[in-house]
Amino acid sequence: MGVAGVAALLAIATAGAAEPPRPERPHLERWVKLLASPELEGRSGEGGRKTAALITEEYRRLGLEPLFDGQFGQEIPPAPPVEAVGRNVGAILRGADPELKDRFIIVSAHYDHLGVRGGVLYPGADDNASGVAMLLETARSLVESAGKPRRSVVFLAFDQEEVGLYGSRFFAANPPFPIESIDLFLTADMIGRSLGGVCEDLVFVMGTEHIPALRPWLFEEAAGRPLTLGILGADLLILNRSDYGPFRSRKVPFLFFSTGENPRYHAPSDTAETLDYPKLTEISQLIHGVVAKAAVADALPRWSDQVDHPLEEAVTIRDVLRVLDANRAALRINAAQAFVIAGALRTLDGVVERGTVSPAERASIIQAARIVLMTAF
Ligand SMILES: [Zn+2]
Repeated sequence: MGVAGVAALLAIATAGAAEPPRPERPHLERWVKLLASPELEGRSGEGGRKTAALITEEYRRLGLEPLFDGQFGQEIPPAPPVEAVGRNVGAILRGADPELKDRFIIVSAHYDHLGVRGGVLYPGADDNASGVAMLLETARSLVESAGKPRRSVVFLAFDQEEVGLYGSRFFAANPPFPIESIDLFLTADMIGRSLGGVCEDLVFVMGTEHIPALRPWLFEEAAGRPLTLGILGADLLILNRSDYGPFRSRKVPFLFFSTGENPRYHAPSDTAETLDYPKLTEISQLIHGVVAKAAVADALPRWSDQVDHPLEEAVTIRDVLRVLDANRAALRINAAQAFVIAGALRTLDGVVERGTVSPAERASIIQAARIVLMTAF
């Protein structure tokens, strides 16, 4: 056998051993750089329309079906005080199971950002080019995968999140299928940095309080990755801070992923060069793993009104407060904040040691976490 023959055999062996398709760093990085580039003008106004066209083009390239009655775009009429017309961009990968194809899993991320203000570009690389990159890479991975989903998987890029979740609110009020047929809604907003710039391996996940049976799936997908899952109840944030809001209020099972706020949030310095791409890749692969599993599962947990706040939540808050406390100077944490943190840590140490958290303890911990998070960044 000649050298060429050996090379060919090796190529076949390598191809056979290849990993199944999953979100990959070079693609994610390319998307973030493109979405955060000056050509897309901070993804508002004309730049927003260009971004919608770009996402549509990718859906077409992947051979996905339009979501809205033959259209990829869903026009959002102006609703005061918002005067601009918005556009959600959605596509569907049809489920193969005759019984489950009319059940839906939605993977989503908002694509809009703050635009150009006073001649200054707000590139929004973390907020939320990172989430859109995850969305498009999850779509590519599922399309290129050998196995077909049993449920239908919807890929949804929301507009007008920054002005008050207008895109997701309009979608939830005007869905192309009954809202009850959504088995799981996932959204990611800012998944390329870390809370305060210091909680480096942490990714927050909210929503499992209503679907606790999905928690083991998340830990399974996170196993072996350089990630710490921060399980939190969505009530920690007083307002719905991203596109899960309109689904949460309609009791659609949801998961919200975010690496949290940091000093570059809503600043012109949220640039593509400064993102943590290895972390974005790990989180995107984790989300893709959950979606792929949910797409073929026999059954998925239904929404439960009985909220379940696990000990993991207390551990998450304790670990975050410890890291913030250790970075007091860098984060300019003042004496009053340090006092709140110290009190919460005393309660948390007791809770974690005992292994249970009472409703009163949780309320005081959540209150402390809110105070720290609202005032520290
Ligand atoms: Zn955002």
